[in-house]
Amino acid sequence: MGLTVDVVNAACTGARDADGIGIMASKTPSVKDKVPARLEVPLEVAEQFVSDLPLGAFYTARETLFRVFAPRATLVEVVLYEEARGDVGRLATVMEDVGSGVWEARIKGDLEGKFYVWRFIGNAGRPDVEVIDIYATNAVDSSRRGRITDFKKTNPAGWRESGKVGPVLKAPTDAVLYELHVRDLTMSETSGVKQKGKYLGWTEPGTNMPGEDAVSTALDHIVELGVTHVQILPVQDYEWDEKKGDYFWGYMTSCFNSPEGIYASDIYDESRVKELKALIAALHERGLGVILDVVYNHTADHASFDAHVPGYYYRLHGDGSKSNGSGVGNDFRSEIPMARKFIVDSLKFWVEEYGVDGFRFDLMSLVDLETMQMAESELLKIRRDLLIYGEPWSAGDSALHGRWTDKGSLEETEGIGAFNDDFRNVIKGPPDGDEVGFIQAGYSRDALIEGLKGTPAWAPKPGQTINYMTCHDNMVLWDKLKASSRNISDEGHVQMAKLGYLILMVSQGIPFLHGGDEFGRTKHGDHNSYRSPDSTNQIDWSLKKKNWGLYNFVRDLIALRKAHPVFRLRTKAEVEGRFALRPHPWYDTVCFTIDGEGLEGETWNQVCVMINGSQHMTGTFQLPVGKWKRASDGMRVASQGRSWEGAVQVPKRTGMIFWR
Ligand code: CA
Repeated sequence: MGLTVDVVNAACTGARDADGIGIMASKTPSVKDKVPARLEVPLEVAEQFVSDLPLGAFYTARETLFRVFAPRATLVEVVLYEEARGDVGRLATVMEDVGSGVWEARIKGDLEGKFYVWRFIGNAGRPDVEVIDIYATNAVDSSRRGRITDFKKTNPAGWRESGKVGPVLKAPTDAVLYELHVRDLTMSETSGVKQKGKYLGWTEPGTNMPGEDAVSTALDHIVELGVTHVQILPVQDYEWDEKKGDYFWGYMTSCFNSPEGIYASDIYDESRVKELKALIAALHERGLGVILDVVYNHTADHASFDAHVPGYYYRLHGDGSKSNGSGVGNDFRSEIPMARKFIVDSLKFWVEEYGVDGFRFDLMSLVDLETMQMAESELLKIRRDLLIYGEPWSAGDSALHGRWTDKGSLEETEGIGAFNDDFRNVIKGPPDGDEVGFIQAGYSRDALIEGLKGTPAWAPKPGQTINYMTCHDNMVLWDKLKASSRNISDEGHVQMAKLGYLILMVSQGIPFLHGGDEFGRTKHGDHNSYRSPDSTNQIDWSLKKKNWGLYNFVRDLIALRKAHPVFRLRTKAEVEGRFALRPHPWYDTVCFTIDGEGLEGETWNQVCVMINGSQHMTGTFQLPVGKWKRASDGMRVASQGRSWEGAVQVPKRTGMIFWR
């Protein structure tokens, strides 16, 4: 059955159209397809050809079932190969049209370790072509073929249905997120890791900087830092030469259901599946959750979607040119039924097969709201505490038919979160350039308070704002501080960073840290290192030793946050009821209290935070009447025996935390 714009004629046909436009396959009565391959299949036409059937290759030792959606093809074959490359054992099997544009074939025997592609024949007038399955779960050789893999054999030791998940969250605000690229964590000589740049490097316990026993690195560092979840830059198979293996961030996905091969020990077999699972298992065993960074808003140029169904999976303008809301050339058409199904199927696969604990959506605005709502609802059926959040913006306009998933639409989701770019800019200025923010110059007190309360107008719940200073995009924190305040010593920059992290950790919402920034990671000013060399991107662990004080401060702030529910309120009403602004010395200072009484798990009756953003002046703050203890003087987190009351002097660019 095929796509049609003209439903007048219900004649059955299996022939090719003479003008090369393409004809429907023959199972169901259909008509001539009048949509040229280069133009967009209209949504109302696409809605007539929808299937709920699982798609892809389904392996058992007795037979493998192959199923693909290709409503514009005249004929489809599944082509098997013995090897990842070359023609050895090539065997083409004609698939059966089972209706709704779906083709199916069952091949007897144990096909484990063989490779497959689809061959589309007469596909809307296109030349016949062999391409990888968009549903391939074990792509090989730079996304050229899919491997038929028995996934049961890919589970690491100790991988149990019940044990493959990360920490169970009572509320999203209990999370502390930490962003890393697979390669950055281990690539440097200073990491002490053996399997540098690979998934398996993350599974090595007990690593430290060579010659520095106290400076733990890689996995041990993450555990020591105390974050709850690691957000990994894209590990879905992306378009890049796996044989060369050059550095790439990975925001060019070609096979969304397969791991990337560059981080695996072999690019032609099932290593990528086994080794990514081993990475996830290693994190889970240490109590850490894993968030996948997913890029469903566009695809790699050479992804095989358009070869499956011409004119279907990408948003096109009327002249056939591709919509470009992502800035990289081809917006994925999430709103069309089988693209929506693809996204939801893919997300569920990663949760069910790999046990991931959440997703970060790249340019989430470009994925239509209905798809995000469906994805959220389906994912929460699997696990209630999955974290789902993304960038609530696009890089440009898009030919989206439907609604964007932007800040304004979050109240129509159960709890999808979004990066709070306003807060990011308030804390330390815009991502690049020399403009300053609060921690450099005390700017924008009112906007800072909105961030501290975690209740910007667009976030229905504090758990829907992701609070951050930096991420992989743009300058890392150290470089930004240097660029925006040039005539200041390293100690001055450390002090600014400390104030920034203190603000982040006492703010309502979900804190997010870019890996390595907690000890002054530098990319030497490179603000877009997506394909820069390892020398730019790798984490230099000697900086952890150099900026030991900063690192210890951040680690201890994280522990303090995790110990005190006052910083992790769950509803707007709770924030409004417990958070109170206090008198403060002047325009670039903030003082507030949060009541802890009656809060489950809270040992403090009240916390009082004083923040002085002044570049020059020590501020005199007033504690509320009574005796207080100090949890942090802004330089370190340390409880002291003495009591405090009345006036407190807070030095410039410093925050203090008191409690009673
Ligand atoms: Ca790849």
